[in-house]
Amino acid sequence: MSNINNGFSTDAIRAGYDSNDHFHSVNPPIYQTASFDLVDIDRTRRLWTGAEGGGIYSRVGNPTGAILEERFAKLEGGKAAVALSSGMAAQTYTLLLLGQGGGNIVSSSSLYGAAMLALIKFLPKYGITTKFVEDRNNPEAYEALIDENTKAVYLESISNPNAELYDIDAIAKIAHKHNVPVIVDNTVATPYLYKPFEHGADITIYSATKEINGHGNVIAGLVVEKGDFHYDEKKFPQFYEKEWKMRDLDDNPRSPIEFWPGAPLIASLKVFFTEFLGGALGSFESYLVLQGLSTLSVRLDKKIETTKKIVEFLENHEKVEWVRHPYAKNSPYKALADRDFKKGPGALISFGFKGTREEEGKFIKALNNFSYHVNIGDVRSLITNPVENTHTELDPKYHELADIPKNLIRLSIGLEDADDLIADLKQAFEKAYK
Ligand SMILES: *Cc1c(COP(=O)(O)O)cnc(C)c1O
Repeated sequence: MSNINNGFSTDAIRAGYDSNDHFHSVNPPIYQTASFDLVDIDRTRRLWTGAEGGGIYSRVGNPTGAILEERFAKLEGGKAAVALSSGMAAQTYTLLLLGQGGGNIVSSSSLYGAAMLALIKFLPKYGITTKFVEDRNNPEAYEALIDENTKAVYLESISNPNAELYDIDAIAKIAHKHNVPVIVDNTVATPYLYKPFEHGADITIYSATKEINGHGNVIAGLVVEKGDFHYDEKKFPQFYEKEWKMRDLDDNPRSPIEFWPGAPLIASLKVFFTEFLGGALGSFESYLVLQGLSTLSVRLDKKIETTKKIVEFLENHEKVEWVRHPYAKNSPYKALADRDFKKGPGALISFGFKGTREEEGKFIKALNNFSYHVNIGDVRSLITNPVENTHTELDPKYHELADIPKNLIRLSIGLEDADDLIADLKQAFEKAYK
């Protein structure tokens, strides 16, 4: 079992797993089963009341997923985690739960496309509206939008696609003054580059599809709860209501706060959301994410080195209008990157392409070492044009709000040799204008 004082890379390989509990299997086993033997009626009672941990039915969780949850909670420095079937499930479930009964979210206006669309078009159907912060680098702009019905502040630690950084310490201080929890989508950064809980966040959500798993072969999500946010009973009655479903061994109904002290949010997601909506992560996907997670630090170290070189190449190329990444020469995020991202501010770069739509198309088509698709955080380097792609479902007015011009091209740097990536970009620029 992993020691309490281990570093990130050790925990990414060992935390949350003891082979003695799994027939001495060195690798976490894939528990490919819908259901688990309950053994006897007393154990059944203990399982159902949470007095004993263990598998019941894989719609609500599975032992392979439980290893991932425990490992990830440790990596993040949180109390508990839940593994879900996608990053969007992580986002939507968390907001539906916190916004139960209606309310509003105060959110940064630079977000992953589907996340932004969920806030604009989907959640309002369930009584949860969003107020987008336009001046999103200014912590006071968040305060100006918070009211008594605000159920959460929502933002991305490294925003997609512009790689913006925010002073989350300052934003969290303001949110907490108003009893509002802070949710950080830490997908691009991962807990290797940035630990939101050390900067005041209360809940983190992830698309584990991206850098966490890192191999472009799984869809997965995670939610982690830090565990020390005090939910106001009037604002968040859902965590104080006694539930028969959460009863103890003596049949006393308990609230989520009593059921799992320090983790009422994760308790509610596990006991109600996966129960009624499904979406617990499957065992095979959990296994793949565990495998990917074990090399996260070395993958990101290499990607950061390559990212530096690509930013420099792009900044010196005549067909590039601008480069957005904290490593770019005139990035407004340099100081925050130096303060909060000591290991590097991620491997997502965007740049302005100088040329027509047709030339941009030829440029993308001419690339051999960058795949053109919507994903990020793969071993492969990826390229996309968000306005016509990842953010195309959004009304153009939101492209303006999120600062995504038509000629923005996003790169997600992979693990290929940096020289090959640069040579590939160079030849594609040449072909674009022929
Ligand atoms: C991809 C992504 C999501 C959604 O995750 P899925 O696993 O695709 O559902 C959410 N946030 C960010 C920042 C993402 O990049």
